[in-house]
Amino acid sequence: MALTFSDIVEEARLSARALLDYGDSFFNPTVRLGVTGLSRAGKTVFITALIHGLTRGGRFPVFEPYATGRIARARLEPQPDDAVPRFDYENHVRTLIEARRWPNSTVDISELRLVIDYQRQNSADRTLTLDIVDYPGEWLLDLPLLTKSYEQWSTESLALSREGPRARLAVPWHQHLNTLSAEGRENEQAALAAARLFTEYLRACCDERFAMSLLPPGRFLMPGNLAGSPALTFAPLEMPVDGTAPDGSLWAMMRRRYQAYKDVVVRPFFRDHFARLDRQIVLVDALSAFNAGPEALHDLEAALAGIMDCFRLGRGTLFSNLFRPRIDRILFAATKADQLHHSSHDRLEAVLRRTVAKAAGRAEYAGAAIDVVALAAVRATREATVARGRDQLPSILGTPAPGETANGETFDGETEVATFPGDLPAEPEELFRGDGAFAGLSIAAADQADFRFLRFRPPRLEREGDDEPTLPHIRLDRALQFLIGDRLQ
Ligand code: GDP
Repeated sequence: MALTFSDIVEEARLSARALLDYGDSFFNPTVRLGVTGLSRAGKTVFITALIHGLTRGGRFPVFEPYATGRIARARLEPQPDDAVPRFDYENHVRTLIEARRWPNSTVDISELRLVIDYQRQNSADRTLTLDIVDYPGEWLLDLPLLTKSYEQWSTESLALSREGPRARLAVPWHQHLNTLSAEGRENEQAALAAARLFTEYLRACCDERFAMSLLPPGRFLMPGNLAGSPALTFAPLEMPVDGTAPDGSLWAMMRRRYQAYKDVVVRPFFRDHFARLDRQIVLVDALSAFNAGPEALHDLEAALAGIMDCFRLGRGTLFSNLFRPRIDRILFAATKADQLHHSSHDRLEAVLRRTVAKAAGRAEYAGAAIDVVALAAVRATREATVARGRDQLPSILGTPAPGETANGETFDGETEVATFPGDLPAEPEELFRGDGAFAGLSIAAADQADFRFLRFRPPRLEREGDDEPTLPHIRLDRALQFLIGDRLQ
């Protein structure tokens, strides 16, 4: 790809930044860990549980440096980047533990610095600084826009909006689109209406009944501090295939704003945040996608392929060879595994592994170690076997959040109930074909109200003997081992 002047300036900035970071981390070993995932995937809960566990003595038998007692202490330090909000750990942990409510979800980027004092295997004492960067996955899915023109993006978005369940959700926006002429005069009111209807369509797609994942531009759904700015006031248009945008036309206006979106939103995010990460965990709410059905699952697969593409950006696609993304380990994690019986955890991992492998194959990705895990950062359920007639059914016990309903019953937030989540199919393909009825939930039930898992309240802290009480989890320690275990050798 030919480099433009702005690409060269961008590269110079990236290189300068990389050199600064390198100098810092030479004297002060640092890992920048990115935590991402689409809205409600479980980022806030994951980070809160991880910090609580590391600073307050969590139970992490599979996290080797911790289990063998080589980690002396982990403590929070002031957040290093002045322009980025601090992850609101103290508030989140209070909500989770004292109020037993789930904390407010991620809507913007935030950061937190954890410093870990540990003993090396050769017994010298060392310190590792772990900078945790929490950012919406919607923003990550914007990176591929950097290599797309307005016309390409517009054509692709329109084609997608005519497929499957999206078509019905796009009707109001399409009706408005039919009244517009791309080559007609530019018109602020038309642009505002188109952007509003397009955003409403995107929002409807990610409603939990449809659980669609592939919805750029990400800031339309997660505007951060940019809500209402002109860089967010554009939408796809129907355009003649070989034409060019006449001066002063609606088309030219939309195209200019799309370009501005890339310049003021996407590029700075890539340079200031994404390009500086060393490790990445991508959280995936696969269970919601299963619940919504095969369309949602295929959409999730496409979104993961999009995310995977981002990790190979820079390898000849976006910038020249001068700059390479630093990320050398990526963990894909299916969250909220506590909503399934443990006999299905391996199957959940298998579905995610299949999805990620397909995405990785398409992206021809080689350059970072990739792993997959099914986890619950905070385990809200216990397991039990409940007798039903002569059958012994594996079930999970938890306290549904107040107001949750099932089978006509509304829960008060205090009563513990047993549910039978059912098994995931042994063969992941069944879920993608949609013929494996799962969890007693009809795969075709996307339009009906009662289709999802019960939302349980967070658990009470567990206490064992005189130890500090800890938050229960599933496989959080395995995630830690993969993400930072090697940096604590
Ligand atoms: P974010 O948008 O990625 O920051 O998502 P959150 O971390 O706020 O999680 C969204 C919701 O998912 C929470 O409010 C909880 O209801 C649920 N959740 C997240 N993690 C877990 C978990 O480990 N177990 C259970 N049972 N629910 C979880």
